[in-house]
Amino acid sequence: MSDPESVSDPETVAAAESDDEPAVPEIDLPSDAFDAVLDALAGLAPDERIRFEGFSVGVAGDDRAADADAHYVLEPAGDDPRTGLSERDLHAALADRAAAVTDWYVFERVVGEFGPRRAFLRWIEDADGATVAERYAALTAGIERAWGQLRITATVTDRGERRYEVRHEADAGAPRGELTARDDPLDAREIVKLDGKGRYRPLKTAPTLRRGWVFPDLGPREVYELVETIYPATVANWHREREGELDVSHWRETMERQSGIYGVIKTWDRGEGHEHVNWVAEACCDDSQCLKRREWEYDDETDLDVDGGDGVFPCREPCSVVVSAARKWTRLESEQPRTYEFDLTPSEKEQLEEMIDAVADGRIDEIREADTKEGANRYRARFLRAKLFDDEGNLGGVPTDTDDPDNGE
Ligand code: SF4
Repeated sequence: MSDPESVSDPETVAAAESDDEPAVPEIDLPSDAFDAVLDALAGLAPDERIRFEGFSVGVAGDDRAADADAHYVLEPAGDDPRTGLSERDLHAALADRAAAVTDWYVFERVVGEFGPRRAFLRWIEDADGATVAERYAALTAGIERAWGQLRITATVTDRGERRYEVRHEADAGAPRGELTARDDPLDAREIVKLDGKGRYRPLKTAPTLRRGWVFPDLGPREVYELVETIYPATVANWHREREGELDVSHWRETMERQSGIYGVIKTWDRGEGHEHVNWVAEACCDDSQCLKRREWEYDDETDLDVDGGDGVFPCREPCSVVVSAARKWTRLESEQPRTYEFDLTPSEKEQLEEMIDAVADGRIDEIREADTKEGANRYRARFLRAKLFDDEGNLGGVPTDTDDPDNGE
């Protein structure tokens, strides 16, 4: 297998060489691929063919009974069919075309049935756009694809088998030996649980996947299992979208379905516009918070004003994290505004704004203690608290005017 440390340009399937003709690697025809062809031929009617890129093979009807050992036919794309091939002849012919045969074998037999897995693995190497020669040349150098925060590198062995390396995109340049190697895709269940700071990740598509690990050598089925473990259902929804079958459930219909403790969310939609849902989408679904591309809107006829993002995989309905946050906001937003009066200097007002920004953007940990230019600097925040809070923690010494101190919880 080629060294995935030296990989090709991301998101493209390009020839490994800059020459016009891609450098197609030498491929040995494995016996399991040849046996699979023989198996498939055994089930064919005389006029049926197994189609490989550039040629097809079948069984000649007349020869089948007459000569049991010389009844195979190989049909090049032109008008030059070769008939009466023995099994040995057929093997020699297919060995000369091992790249196309192993490509067929990988997708028809190893990967198998049509569906998300097959579409995903074909997408990785652009199997529906690039020729076998182009792909094998690119796979030899390593084809890279991004999926959320994953960097997937596909390669091909000298037997035409596909192998995949998966790591965090931020570890793309790290020597493999510096990363913790894993081989069981289910190990990812532990990787996805906590972020790099040890905090629980309630949203699996949040861009908080921790780094430092690598799955160096996975097969086609394993790489799919790994991706599904790290980003559940993302391949299935991506595939549905490509097939034009993504079943989107918009905000209103999703909230209408809520019951039990979440039933209260229905009361947030009062036919007074959808600005509140814009705020929810901006708070939760922005690319900085979630890698899915939001496809749901307010309802069938009303789009939100907030961009849905650029993620590879779509989001088809408000998720449980959004529903749970919306429940809280439904309570909070049912309060009536009050007017409070306290004095702030212009800098203090700006500092409060900077602090809200820093928390919302998750930048608190980046602000150094010595950097007192930052409004969200810890010493600046402590100074503001010391100056403006009374002993009860009231800003400006003004008590909070509320008749529901727990906000309904
Ligand atoms: S609802 Fe928003 S936060 Fe939840 S998965 Fe979809 S895009 Fe991400």
